[in-house]
Amino acid sequence: MAGDTLGRLGAADFALVSEHIADETDAISVAGRVEGVLASPFKVEGKELFVTASTGIVLVDAQRQAEEVLRDASAAMHQAKDSGGARYEIFNWTIRERAVTRVELASALRRAVERGELRLYYQPEVDVTTGTCAGVEALMRWWHPARGLVPPAEFIPVAEETGSILALGHWALQEACRQAAEWRGQAAAPPQISVNLSAHQLALPDLVSQVTEALDQAHLDAGSICLELTETALMQDVDGAMATLAALHDLGVQLSIDDFGTGYSSLLYLRRYPVDYLKIDRTFVAGFGADTHDEAIASAIIGLAHSFGLKVVAEGVETEQQLDLLRSMGCDLAQGYLWSRPVPSNELPSTLPAR
Ligand code: C2E
Ligand code: MG
Ligand code: MG
Repeated sequence: MAGDTLGRLGAADFALVSEHIADETDAISVAGRVEGVLASPFKVEGKELFVTASTGIVLVDAQRQAEEVLRDASAAMHQAKDSGGARYEIFNWTIRERAVTRVELASALRRAVERGELRLYYQPEVDVTTGTCAGVEALMRWWHPARGLVPPAEFIPVAEETGSILALGHWALQEACRQAAEWRGQAAAPPQISVNLSAHQLALPDLVSQVTEALDQAHLDAGSICLELTETALMQDVDGAMATLAALHDLGVQLSIDDFGTGYSSLLYLRRYPVDYLKIDRTFVAGFGADTHDEAIASAIIGLAHSFGLKVVAEGVETEQQLDLLRSMGCDLAQGYLWSRPVPSNELPSTLPAR
């Protein structure tokens, strides 16, 4: 509207100051108009790109400091993002409290690695045909000095946003390799360890040398680790990701696409990226029996992956029925509470129950 001010605050952060707002309904309708404008695809170099907006709304009178208003709008915007994005959120005091907790968490997280507060827990990945352990996935846990165990769903997004994920991810890589070396030679040693990588790590120019160094320090074969990347991470810089993945694959490291089916699920990755495994997101497995679409999707993913020569891992398998269905679909590996929750290395079951 005439008289409104639009400013760019960061890479993809914008502030819109509107002086013609009478109440919440007015503000929501402005947010709706912004979303409406962004709803149509943009053409860039002949390709159609889609963007969405997460909007934080603050209604103020003339008395407030600009810094405070921006801080509150930003907290509301983060709330909108955390709730799935492409929506608006109106600032309130719960949001303010959550933002304070987030800032505290972010600052405690920066010191978590040096203070030794992080642990890797391990969850078996089971060969569906033989019932043996084919590998383990390393999952990070944070023991906060005051709050106790903070789940990854809470601290990984904060770490991603503040950049701490680089230090955390580097630590996880080294620790997983150290653990694999410790296990080597033991009868019940898992053949492979999978480590989750964030999109920020994939963009690091020295990721390949970080991986080489971690392997060398532990005197480990590259083939004993698998790196898991989400579809979204692979989308961010396709050419850069291709080059890095190719270099990692040349080293002999196994590669896996995590949470497959929740993002763009592009067939292009399967053809272009040198990946070895696809992990079916656990939401599909959870829907077995209740939603026939989920079964159809899982079955299609398995068929597709096999036709590209990839192995398939199903996440979140909790029941015998889910396992039976996956087996009938030809799924290769499975992981879930049916066998074990993620546990500290010394609590990993040495043999898995026959299923
Ligand atoms: P993910 O990589 O998809 O890991 C699988 C998640 O499913 C884990 O959650 C695991 O505990 C959970 N899970 C396994 N089996 C079952 C089951 O039968 N039922 C249910 N309901 N859940 C099951 P967790 O450990 O909370 O980790 C969540 C996410 O945090 C991971 O999802 C991964 O995206 C991220 N994450 C964890 N550790 C790391 C890490 O070291 N680096 C990075 N970048 N991300 C990590
Ligand atoms: Mg994973
Ligand atoms: Mg996953």
